[in-house]
Amino acid sequence: MKKIILIAFVVLSVVTLLYTLTSEETEVVIIQEENEEIFLPTVEYGIAMDSFMVYKDVIEPNQFLANILLKYHIPYTEIDMLVKMSKDVFDVKKIASGKKYTILCSKDSIGKAQCFIYEPNQTEYVVFDMRDSISIYKGQKEVETKIKHIKGTINSSLYKTLSDKKASPVLAIEMANVYAWTIDFYAIQKGDWFDVLYEEKYVGDQFVGIGKILAANFNHYGKDYYAYRFEQDGITNFFDEKGNSLKRAFLKSPLEFGKLTSGFTMKRFHPVQKINKPHLGTDYAAPTGTPILATGDGVVVESAHKVYNGNYVKIKHNSTYTTQYLHMSKRLAKTGQRVKQGDVIGYVGSTGLATGPHVCYRFWKNGAQTNHLKEETPPAEPVKNEHKERFILLKDSLNKKMNPPTDLVSL
Ligand SMILES: [Zn+2]
Repeated sequence: MKKIILIAFVVLSVVTLLYTLTSEETEVVIIQEENEEIFLPTVEYGIAMDSFMVYKDVIEPNQFLANILLKYHIPYTEIDMLVKMSKDVFDVKKIASGKKYTILCSKDSIGKAQCFIYEPNQTEYVVFDMRDSISIYKGQKEVETKIKHIKGTINSSLYKTLSDKKASPVLAIEMANVYAWTIDFYAIQKGDWFDVLYEEKYVGDQFVGIGKILAANFNHYGKDYYAYRFEQDGITNFFDEKGNSLKRAFLKSPLEFGKLTSGFTMKRFHPVQKINKPHLGTDYAAPTGTPILATGDGVVVESAHKVYNGNYVKIKHNSTYTTQYLHMSKRLAKTGQRVKQGDVIGYVGSTGLATGPHVCYRFWKNGAQTNHLKEETPPAEPVKNEHKERFILLKDSLNKKMNPPTDLVSL
């Protein structure tokens, strides 16, 4: 008897349990129905995709708009019209292999293409809409910006350190730009370290590129070089912790007092050689012994004597600019020496090919000799007094993100 009661009890419990489960299921179904009422169609490229057959692919070599669209039942006449109409928006000749495209076709038995969407890069797209009348337009995917923080120590190269940290190597180029006037990125050494706060751009989960560098500290030869991105009077620049611009202007002349006697020209009559030849420098005359100044911070890459140049010094300022000073009576700066703007590197003389005491000043930009007087060397204006308070607030907030207490550092 007791057994029967027990079995009955167990059966009853199971039935109750089943009933409970079933009723819960019923409830779930109701929720689903409610959800269906607020169902949202999948929207991509600003188009509701659900009403089409969607084909996604990549342009193959020798594939053009015509041979793609013909497959999806678009006649030549219509393709021709598309090409003509797209001229002002997008040149179809630029459709390149390897790029992504999407075709939206009607869901009927024919499956004719309704839209062709081409992606020239990761953020833009071009829509060829053939639904009612033809319309062609460009669109932009939604790009999300995330702020990233990376610290690293250089063992072999900045690129290597960044790739070890899974950061884009483009960040190295951006950092070199920020520090173009203060650090020679070809001379960074093992043990240098950096701390950088910057933006990364994403479309969905896909990384599409580096945004702005917001702040950085680069420790080079044991010295901190801070950089804070700051805008004043509509111009954005990088400033150090004291509000000084990271950009340095060159001195206009290597002599404090000197007379410009011969300018930069592609053709001049050489006073010694008596022939026409380009003069790729600017001559400043001054008495022998007048101090010659480094026009900018940098490293002496040559301090030597040559037949034509006489005694000369060549200074590399950064990866962009190099300067040279010829015909010195005496050289002071030595090869490998670091010099500051205004440092005396030698004295005026007439060694080498010269008729009288002068300094021939030569200026290179990206490896090409240019007229320094026509170069727009960057301004070196510091943070202005009226913007100081705003700069300090920004600097403090960036420092909090960049130098959190060590136990909070996740990277
Ligand atoms: Zn000269």
